[in-house]
Amino acid sequence: MPQQRPEAGDRPGQGFHCRALLTVLLAVASPLAARSAPATTSTATAPAVAAVMAQEARAMASAVIGNLGEGYSFQIDDRRHLVYVSALDKRTSRYVMSVLGAYCDMERQMLFAGGQLWNPVILLPTLTDFRRLSPDPKVLGFYRYSTHTLMSISLSNVLIHEFTHALHHQDQAAAGQHHAIWLAEGLATLFQQSRVKAGTLEIRTDSSLSTVRKAIQEGKALPLTELLAMDQAAFMKRAEICYLQAQSVLLFLYRQGKLRDFYLTYKETFAQDPTGRMALEKTLGRKLTDIEAAWRKWVASQDIRRSGSSAKAHLGIRMQADENGVMVTGLLAGSMAQTAGKLKVGDVITSIAGHDTPSAAELTLVVASLLPGETIDIAILRQGRPMIIQQLLGAARP
Ligand SMILES: [Zn+2]
Repeated sequence: MPQQRPEAGDRPGQGFHCRALLTVLLAVASPLAARSAPATTSTATAPAVAAVMAQEARAMASAVIGNLGEGYSFQIDDRRHLVYVSALDKRTSRYVMSVLGAYCDMERQMLFAGGQLWNPVILLPTLTDFRRLSPDPKVLGFYRYSTHTLMSISLSNVLIHEFTHALHHQDQAAAGQHHAIWLAEGLATLFQQSRVKAGTLEIRTDSSLSTVRKAIQEGKALPLTELLAMDQAAFMKRAEICYLQAQSVLLFLYRQGKLRDFYLTYKETFAQDPTGRMALEKTLGRKLTDIEAAWRKWVASQDIRRSGSSAKAHLGIRMQADENGVMVTGLLAGSMAQTAGKLKVGDVITSIAGHDTPSAAELTLVVASLLPGETIDIAILRQGRPMIIQQLLGAARP
C-alpha cells in the first residue's frame, strides 16, 4: 500500500488506531485495495469496472450496516463511487451527499483526476458510536488510509478536510505515489476552508492567514526547506503552525492560478523530488529562496479583517460549554433563534456557516463575523445525532 500513515483529525497531533468496525471494513475493502491502477488516468471508469465497483459498494455498505446495528441506512453514489453509511435523518443525509458531491467534482476536476480504484466509505455515525469507534476523544473526524474509510460527526469543516484526504488518497494510489505530509495536510486544510459555489471554489482565509502572518512576524514560521522535507512525526510535533503554513503556501499558488500546475508538476517530478521543492521551482520559475521571500511578502500584504457593514449578526441563544461544541441552554425572547423555532434547548452546536464552534467564545466570534439577514447552516447534535438546520440571522441591538 502506498499510504499507511495514521491520520490526524482537524485537531492535529493525534494518531489513530481504530479496530472493531474497521476490522470488518478492512476485510471487505481488501479486494478493492488489491486492484492495480488502470493504465489511463481518465476519470471515467470502464463499464465493466463500474459494475464491479457498484457491486462492491453494496457489499461494503451492507457489511458496515450489519456491524453498526439499528438506526443506520446507506446511500450509494454510483456516478462518483462513494458509499455513505449514516445515522442522519433523510434530509440531512441528502444535504451532506449534495455538498460532498460538489466538492468531489470540483476537487477531481481541479486536481485529483486519477483513477477511482475503490469506493471510499463515508461513515456518519451517532455521537455514541463515534466515541466508541474513535479511540481519541478530542477529534470530530478522521480518515483511515488502510480501509478507505472516513468517519465524522462533523458535517462541515472536519468532514471536508477528511473527505479531501479520501479523494487525494485515490489520486496518489493511481500514480503509485505517497505524497509529502505538508501537501496532503495543506490541501485538506485549504479545501476545508472553501465553499463550492456555482461550480467555482471560494476559499476563505479568515483567521488562518493572520495566524501565519503572526508566526512570520514572531519568527516562528518554518523555513520552507524545512516544512517541505518534514515527515509525519515532525509535522505533527509542530502541528499548530505546520497545517496553516502548508495551507498558506498552497493558497499562495492558488491565488496566482498555479495550484493545478504545481500539483501536476509535483506528480511528474515525484520520483526525483518528493518534497515538492523542484515542482515549486519549476512551476514558479524561481529558486526556492525567492519563492519563500515572495510568499512571506504576500502573507504580510493580505488584509484579513472583514470589511463593510458595521451591523453585527445575532443569534439569540444562551449557551454553555459542552465537550462536543456549545450547548443551547435557552432561546432569548424575540430573537431569531426563538421565532424561527428550529434550534432547541439541549442542541449542541458544532459549527456555524462552516466554521467550527468548539467554545462559546468562538461561536460568538463566528456569529459576529456574519451579516444580519444571512441564512446560514448550523450543524448540531440533537440527542447525539448530527443534523443541519438553516437559520436566518437577526441583527444585534446596538
Ligand atoms: Zn488531515
